[in-house]
Amino acid sequence: MVSSAHAIASGLAKDGGLFVPRDFPPVSLTEIDSMREASYGDRAVAVLGRFLTDFTEEELRSCVDAAYSKEKFGDFPAPLHLLKKDTDILELWHGPTCAFKDMALQILPHFLTKAIAKTGEQKKVVILVATSGDTGKAAMAGFADVPETEVIVFYPQDGVSAIQQLQMTTQRGKNVQAVAVEGNFDDAQTGVKVLFGDKELAAELKDHGCAFSSANSINWGRLVPQIVYYFSAYTDAVARGRIKLGEKINFSVPTGNFGDILAGYYAKLMGLPVNKFICASNSNNVLTDFINTGTYDRNRPFHKTISPSMDILVSSNLERLLYEKTERNADKVNEWMDALKDKGNYSVGSDIQSLVLSDFFGAWVDEIETQETIGDVFNNYDYVMDPHTAVAYKALEKYRLMTSDETYSIVLSTASPFKFNDVVLRSIAPDCFEGEAMDPFAAMKQLAETAHLEIPQSMKELPDLPVHKSDVVEPAGMEGEVKKILSIE
Ligand SMILES: *Cc1c(COP(=O)(O)O)cnc(C)c1O
Repeated sequence: MVSSAHAIASGLAKDGGLFVPRDFPPVSLTEIDSMREASYGDRAVAVLGRFLTDFTEEELRSCVDAAYSKEKFGDFPAPLHLLKKDTDILELWHGPTCAFKDMALQILPHFLTKAIAKTGEQKKVVILVATSGDTGKAAMAGFADVPETEVIVFYPQDGVSAIQQLQMTTQRGKNVQAVAVEGNFDDAQTGVKVLFGDKELAAELKDHGCAFSSANSINWGRLVPQIVYYFSAYTDAVARGRIKLGEKINFSVPTGNFGDILAGYYAKLMGLPVNKFICASNSNNVLTDFINTGTYDRNRPFHKTISPSMDILVSSNLERLLYEKTERNADKVNEWMDALKDKGNYSVGSDIQSLVLSDFFGAWVDEIETQETIGDVFNNYDYVMDPHTAVAYKALEKYRLMTSDETYSIVLSTASPFKFNDVVLRSIAPDCFEGEAMDPFAAMKQLAETAHLEIPQSMKELPDLPVHKSDVVEPAGMEGEVKKILSIE
């Protein structure tokens, strides 16, 4: 067993396994009720304090205040947008990079610097990130110029949107770099995992006063801030009269690495009244198949979609769910993870599958349905969703159709529509295009006009910022690139 500071500082356990909390401290309905009037910061301190027991309340407060400031997140970091009686939208993209990863990556650097001081390791922390687009920028923005940290982001060369790439290559900060990898997201993620597991490299880094850590959702410090907004959304739904305190609700979550939805499951284990989590996927529907069959099989074609942050075939955090569902049988879970590595698939058997089905429903949504959903919701409710949110919205509709469950549900909205102007505009105003591609910034302006929305400041200024060109490497060249950046030869 290790302290929370150690788990956050190191990111990954020595044997390559993932850290999980010893237990899930209960939060009573009375406490949930008392959050109603509280600020987001107070809600966060209450929930985070349950897990980060080696941080004082003052320390947590200072992390929370620095992370979720008004300058960075506006009036409220995670507002519940009221859409219709049985469905609301939890907007998680009011942070500096306009995607939900800010919710965790703005606070992680503050946890990390405090954690390093606590564990007494006077080392420079080198954060390696594999990104399908949003994590990279969010990590760079969160860590820019944080002392004693260095961030190296690997992104798939052709796997991120033009805007996402520009967001990364215009990020200021001497200690943050983006590197393009020839391959897809899984190539980048596998490459990062290899670097983490490389003992020789770790020894070399140590000689230079450095140590690796991770800002991917495998880091416990990434997951724990995500638990907060499930409580926050629930208490807001009570406050707005959508549900009565104690009533169970559903959450529909656009899922890639299974981090966001896992945080919701952890909230449920702490006592949050949840009926089902709808695990929403795009055509990379490996999780839908897993939930419906008990077999996880990554041997399938990889699809590039209009919801690129969910283009993932290996969902790292599923390992943590299986650990809980097997009553923490590490040997069993290791066996499956080894099988996944060796042959690309594993089966958990019908008993474990039923346990998964008791909390999760899997559904996937294709490209046409995603665009139709963006258009329909705009036409019916005058609300503009990004493609990831649309996948979750449509998956919820499919769930309702198949189960007749009419429980009040919250859809997690993970990105601002302005991060995906082209697709969103095509969906709500197809006539703008006449079949041609539009410059992303022209599309952004057009979207703002069509939908009567304001362009977020950080998006508006993008075209005017200086660009630092990324290095491009093959997966095999990632180690060399890290050494080059850290000046280790
Ligand atoms: C990362 C991301 C997701 C997927 O979240 P996971 O925690 O990886 O499941 C969904 N939508 C957007 C916009 C994202 O950036």
